[in-house]
Amino acid sequence: MTLRAQDTVSADDRLAASKAEIEALTQETLNLYRQVNLLYRIGESINACLSSAEVCQLVLRESCKILRASAGLIELDDGTQHGAAPESPTSELRVPIENAHGRLGTVTLYDKRIGFFTAADEKLIRAVARQAGIALENNRLIQGLLHKNQELAQVNEELTALDRMKSDFVSNVSHELRTPLASIKGFAATILVDEEMPTEVVREFVGIINEESDKLVVIINDILDLSKMMSGHMKYELSRAPMEGVLADVVRLLSVLAEKKGLTLTLEGLDSGWVEMDVNRMAQVFKNLVGNAIKFTDTGGVRVAQWTQGDEVCVAVADTGEGIAPSQLPHIFDKFYRVENVVHTREGTGLGLALVRSILERHGGRVDVESRLGEGSTFTVRLPRVPAPEA
Ligand code: ADP
Repeated sequence: MTLRAQDTVSADDRLAASKAEIEALTQETLNLYRQVNLLYRIGESINACLSSAEVCQLVLRESCKILRASAGLIELDDGTQHGAAPESPTSELRVPIENAHGRLGTVTLYDKRIGFFTAADEKLIRAVARQAGIALENNRLIQGLLHKNQELAQVNEELTALDRMKSDFVSNVSHELRTPLASIKGFAATILVDEEMPTEVVREFVGIINEESDKLVVIINDILDLSKMMSGHMKYELSRAPMEGVLADVVRLLSVLAEKKGLTLTLEGLDSGWVEMDVNRMAQVFKNLVGNAIKFTDTGGVRVAQWTQGDEVCVAVADTGEGIAPSQLPHIFDKFYRVENVVHTREGTGLGLALVRSILERHGGRVDVESRLGEGSTFTVRLPRVPAPEA
C-alpha cells in the first residue's frame, strides 16, 4: 500500500484535532472537578461549624482560584466585609448570598480583563453563594446556641450560689434563733426552780429574757419582710417627712448599743431635707445600716451625716470598722449573703442589706458603699427630695 502525501497531511490534521479536543476535554473535566471540589469543600464547611469569617475566606479563596479572578469581596448585611475590591476592575461578577430566610449579603469577584466572566462562571458562583448562605446560617444558629448555652451556664452558676447561700442562711438562722432561745429557756428555768431568788436577780434575768426575745423578734420580722419583699406584698404608707426626724430616732435608739461597745455615735449636718417616705420602713433602713456599722466596728465610732445635693437628700453612715474586701463588695446587697458564712462569729442572717436596698428602691432611691479592709466602710443613701409642706 502506498501513502499519498495528501493522506499524510489529513491524518496529521486529524491527530492534531483529536489532541486539541482531548486537551479541551481534559481542561473542562479539570474545571468541572475543581467546581465540584469547591462546592464540596463549601458544603463541608456547613458541617465543620466554621465561623462566618472562615466561611467567607474559604469562598473567596477557592472561587478566585477556580475562576482565575484577580480579587473578591464579600459584603454581609450585618456590616462585615471580607476580602477587598481592587482599584479599577474591568470585569465584575456579583451574586447575592441567600438562604431560606432571605438575603445575607453579596459576593463579588473582580478581574482586570474585559468581559472576563462567563455565564457558566455566574452559574457556578450562584451555586457557591447558595452553599455559603447555608453555612453562614448554620454558623448563626450555632453561635446562638453557644450564647444560650453560656447564659444557661451562668444562670446555673447563680442558682447554685443562691442555693448555697440559702443553705448557709438556714444554718445561720437556726443558729441565730437557737442562741437567744437557749438563753431565754435557761434564765426562765432558773427563775422557776429557785423560789428564793432575790427580786433584783429575778429582774436582771427577766431583763435578759426581754433582750433576747427582742433579738428573736428582729430576726423573725426580717424573715417575714423578706418573704413579703419577694412576693411583692410589702406595703408602704407614704407621707412627706423630714429625714432628720428618722435619723435622730435611729441614733437615739442605737446609741445604747454603741456605748456598750465603747464606740462614738454622732449625727451631723441635719438640714431638713424632706422625703416622700414610709417612716417606719425608712427607720428600718437606717437601723440596719447603723446597726451593721456598730456590729462590724470594734474601735473608733460611727458617723451619720445628712446633706442635700441638687434634688436629692443624702445620708452617709460611716464607720471605722473592719471594712469589706473588694471581692465581697458586689455581693453584700444580695439576700442571704454574709461575708463570714462559714465561721459564725457575728450575729446576722444576711437579710439586712437586701431589705435596705429593696426599701430604698421602692422610694426611688439607692445605696452605694465604699470600703477599705481594716479601715472602715461608708454606706451612702440618696433619695429624691420633695418640698417641705407649707406651714
Ligand atoms: P447581716 O445580717 O450578716 O449583717 P447584712 O445583709 O446586713 O447581713 O450584711 C451582709 C454582710 O455585709 C454582712 O454579713 C457583713 O459581712 C457585710 N457588712 C455589712 N455592713 C458592714 C459594715 N458596716 N462593715 C463591714 N461589713 C459589713
